[in-house]
Amino acid sequence: MTRVHTAGNGITCTPFRVTGLHSYIAFVRDHVVGHGDGSGLTNDLVDDVKCTGNDTSFWNEIWCGTVAFKLKYPRLHRLESFKTARIADRIFWTDNGPVMTWNWASNPRWRAAAELLNLEKDLLDLNQFSNKPDTWTWKHEKCGKYTSSSLSNLLINAFVANKPIPEPTVINSLIPQKIGIFMWRMHKNKLLVRIELDNKGIDLHSVLCPVCDDCVECIQHAMISCKSAASVWDKLRQWWSLDKLPFEVYSDLIDCSLSHINSKTGTKIWQAVVWITAYFIWKNRNAKVFGNNASSIPKLLSDIQSKSFEWINDRGCNIDLDWHSWVNNPSACALNFKPKDGIG
Ligand SMILES: [Zn+2]
Repeated sequence: MTRVHTAGNGITCTPFRVTGLHSYIAFVRDHVVGHGDGSGLTNDLVDDVKCTGNDTSFWNEIWCGTVAFKLKYPRLHRLESFKTARIADRIFWTDNGPVMTWNWASNPRWRAAAELLNLEKDLLDLNQFSNKPDTWTWKHEKCGKYTSSSLSNLLINAFVANKPIPEPTVINSLIPQKIGIFMWRMHKNKLLVRIELDNKGIDLHSVLCPVCDDCVECIQHAMISCKSAASVWDKLRQWWSLDKLPFEVYSDLIDCSLSHINSKTGTKIWQAVVWITAYFIWKNRNAKVFGNNASSIPKLLSDIQSKSFEWINDRGCNIDLDWHSWVNNPSACALNFKPKDGIG
C-alpha cells in the first residue's frame, strides 16, 4: 500500500507515498484527528508491539506506554550514546528476568538518575517478548492486519461524522493586529515550542522548556503551566481581583470572558488584557531563548498594565480609562468604562 485515495465523500488530499505504518499514523494524527503528540492515537490504531525488539527503536517509537521514551525521559535520551538503539540493544530476557544494557555518554545523575529509576520500573513491568519478528497489530481489522479500506473508513468517519468546529475570531480592535495574529498562531498550534520543532525533525539538544528546564515544552506548558507563565497569570488574577481565572488550557484563551462582566465592550477589554498577557509571556520566553534580558514577573505585570492602558485608550474610541483606576480596579473599569465625550 503506497497511497491513500481520497476521492468522494468530500475529502480532498494529495495521495502520498509512505514507508510504513507509522507514516499512516502520522498522517491521520496530523490531518484528521489532531491529537497533538499522537500518543492517544497510536493506542487507537495499533496494539503494543510484541516482538524480539530487533526492528523497533528503543527511544524513538512508542512501544511501551503511550509516549516515546525520548520524550518521556528527555534527560536520559540526551545521555544515550546511540540514539537509534533498538529495543533488543537495551533489554533482553534471561531465566531470571529482563536484563538492561545501557550505553550512556556520561553517568546519569540527579534528575537523569531519577528518570533512569522510572524507566527501569517501566521495563520491569513488561511481559517477556516473544521470539517473533517485530510487528504491530492493527485494531481496525479482526485479523490484526492493516488494510486500506479500514483506514479509508477511519478517514471518512473523522471528516464526515465530526462537524467542523467554528473558528474563533481573533480580531480585537483595542489592541494591535500583531497580537491577534499571535493568538491565531497559538490556536493553530503554530508556535515553535521545542516539541513542535522536534516533531518537524529539527535536531535539538533538548526538548525541555527553556524557561524552567523541568518539563517537555509544548504550547500548553509554555503558555499556561510553566511556573513562570503560571506566575504571570496569577498576577493577572490578583490584579483583576478574581478568585479563579476562567481558563485552564491555552485553547480557551481566545474566547475567555468573565461572568460578572456582561457588556460587549467590557468583555472586549478583558479579552484584550488576556491576549496581551499571553503575548508578553511568549515574548519573555523568547527573550530567554535568544539570550536577551528576560523580565521579572512584577516587571511583566507592570508592562502588561501600561501597554493595555495605552492601547485600549488609544484605540477604543468610546473608552476613556483612568490610570489610577485601571491599576487598582480594572474590573470596575471594564464594568463602568467612561465613554469619551459622552459616547458609549
Ligand atoms: Zn517551563
